[in-house]
Amino acid sequence: MGEHYDYDLFTIGLGSGGTRASRVAAAHGARVAAAEEYRVGGTCVIRGCVPKKMLVYGAQFAEDLEDATHFGWTVEGKSFDWVKLRDHVMRDVGRIEGIYTETLEKHDVTLFHERAEITGDHQITLASGKVVTAKYILLATGARPHVPDFKGHEHVITSNEAFHLDKVPECILILGGGYIANEFAGIFNEFGAQVVIAQRSDTILRHYDFAMRDRLMQLSLSKGIEFLFNTQIEEVVKQEDGMFEVRFKDKEPRHFDCVMAATGRVPNIEGLGLDTVGVKTGERGQIKVDEFSKTNVDYIYAVGDVTDRVQLTPVAIREGQAFADSVFGDKEPYAVDHTCIPSAVFSHPPIAAVGLNEREAKDKYGQVAVYTSDFRPMKNVVADRNERSLIKMICDGASGKILGIAMIGPDAPEIMQAAAVAVKAGMNKADFDATTAIHPTVAEELVLLR
Ligand code: FAD
Repeated sequence: MGEHYDYDLFTIGLGSGGTRASRVAAAHGARVAAAEEYRVGGTCVIRGCVPKKMLVYGAQFAEDLEDATHFGWTVEGKSFDWVKLRDHVMRDVGRIEGIYTETLEKHDVTLFHERAEITGDHQITLASGKVVTAKYILLATGARPHVPDFKGHEHVITSNEAFHLDKVPECILILGGGYIANEFAGIFNEFGAQVVIAQRSDTILRHYDFAMRDRLMQLSLSKGIEFLFNTQIEEVVKQEDGMFEVRFKDKEPRHFDCVMAATGRVPNIEGLGLDTVGVKTGERGQIKVDEFSKTNVDYIYAVGDVTDRVQLTPVAIREGQAFADSVFGDKEPYAVDHTCIPSAVFSHPPIAAVGLNEREAKDKYGQVAVYTSDFRPMKNVVADRNERSLIKMICDGASGKILGIAMIGPDAPEIMQAAAVAVKAGMNKADFDATTAIHPTVAEELVLLR
């Protein structure tokens, strides 16, 4: 292939996108090397989806143990040990990191456990000073938490640190209204913390259907989570007793023992050497790529969060796979389809959605038909838990084609994964109506919508 280069491919960053691309390129016969400056697996495995979901499971027991009494169980002396859970989670993260590393090594990918940057045409320099060359370079460096630049911002933690806390905060202020803010609000609230979400705008989860957002907010409020909207932080001051005084622009100061920023993520492009070879970036700092993930420099590609297309693991993986197949495989080059991507918020209860929300559907199609089911799942009835679930299906008024489905309630993400197949395949509501329900389930509501 690129005989006069050291490698056919050099990947910078071994997260979801970089790992998939490196492994697949090697399986296609390419000589691959890759550099990772922190831990193999990247954000998702080390400090994102995976440990987060484990904490969500742990948090759910708070409600399940409470509900158990309504199902006849006596639960005596229950208590929660954060350090035990944290350490279990971290142990499993280490195990998965090992599997990722082993898979790459089995595919003969040469691994450099250090930082890398582009220092010339086809040339990469590692932190140790070693210089290598590659025919193709893949930038898969991901993104990192953005912390707003107010006074005292150095006292604020992000999701990176949240997994390693010594104890559950007693009262935590979470800045931001996106999925990470709402997920950690649910986690810490279930573990007994007093949680306040402070958001600059007047809403949460702005990409989700308003009915789902509203339901999550109502349920979060009923569980004791407080929301401060249209709020801006002026300063965070550390007190002598270790607490933090948070001074707002237009509200009385409040005291917390932890302040966490979940205020978006910025692409990792600093010190990558992009200027050295003239790789173009956009206004959000994202690396600009075409539909085949190619940058403006012919031999340099970029996948995943650093391109800021859709910041989700399965998307980064698909982009990595498509890049490797297209450049090193024997297929025609192909692009990743970024439409109709299902997603979830692992809040308490979770939200999941696919396709357009009602507002987007109305803007695009004008006349839409909306079918809703607002119900209390059987388990919540027995548990005497006053928590209702909501399912919404939005269809094109003329053809009946499903444009989007959204749901909030137990197991919503599990249910939505299957429903997303139907929406992606362009099915109609009539196809759902023609499907017999599995009774009694929560998911049956999807085929019983009127
Ligand atoms: P990353 O996984 O971030 O990997 C990039 C890697 O590059 C990192 O390991 C970094 O150390 C390395 N790197 C950077 N610069 C260099 C350099 N110069 N040299 C060497 N190495 C370098 N997505 C979901 O789909 N579902 C979820 O439930 C979900 N939950 C999340 C929860 C949290 C708290 C967070 C933060 C994210 C979550 N995500 C979730 C998003 C998901 O983690 C990312 O979309 C995904 O990891 C992106 O993969 P990537 O390969 O682009 O980058």
